[in-house]
Amino acid sequence: MRVPAALRRGLPRGLRRPSLGAVVIFLIIVFAAARGPLRKTLWRAGPDAAPLREARAQDRIVHVVDGDTIVGAAHGTIRVLSIDTPEAGQPLFAEAAAALAQLVAGKQVELLFDVETVDRYGRALAHVLVADGAERRLAGEELVRRGLASVFIIPPNLLFAERLKAAQKEAVLNDRGLWALPPPAPEPYYVVGAYKFHRPSCAHAAQIPNPRMQKDRKAILAQGKSPCRACLP
Ligand SMILES: [Zn+2]
Repeated sequence: MRVPAALRRGLPRGLRRPSLGAVVIFLIIVFAAARGPLRKTLWRAGPDAAPLREARAQDRIVHVVDGDTIVGAAHGTIRVLSIDTPEAGQPLFAEAAAALAQLVAGKQVELLFDVETVDRYGRALAHVLVADGAERRLAGEELVRRGLASVFIIPPNLLFAERLKAAQKEAVLNDRGLWALPPPAPEPYYVVGAYKFHRPSCAHAAQIPNPRMQKDRKAILAQGKSPCRACLP
């Protein structure tokens, strides 16, 4: 692109090059991108990046479905983010549900939303904070610390990920709850990904980028990894 002759004449000698127009347009594009999509990318960069908007809400919990699912008067069914508790018929199902009920049933809680706020079943996804005297406790972290839930992180929802992993480490090293149960059919080694681990024969194991092979199941759990829900390692 050529700079108009009139403009060129008004410029200092060193800037009278035709590329000036291209430079100006380039700067306009960069500036516009930085205010739009690129800004979102930059803002979200990094594992501990905060969600784009301040996303909190109050709700009163009217029903506890199980150890990781509750019903709020305002939000309906809420899946407690980043934990997984036993299903009906599995050991510690009732204990996990009772522990969550003891924390939140009938109470006013604060819902703290992560990047994804609704799942494919239409349930709200939230971290649940509950007042305990002057402190606020993270309900999911309490269950993980007692060994009644495993950490279950699904990117891009990474709020509290490090806290939850630390809680699982504490529970595993103290053989609490789930981690006191005999391991189901041990494997000679496990396939470990960024968040989960699998039996070697699991189809999901083949999809892990840069998998690591580890033998010590307890050590894997102490790193805060989740047992795959398909192969139940
Ligand atoms: Zn698996």
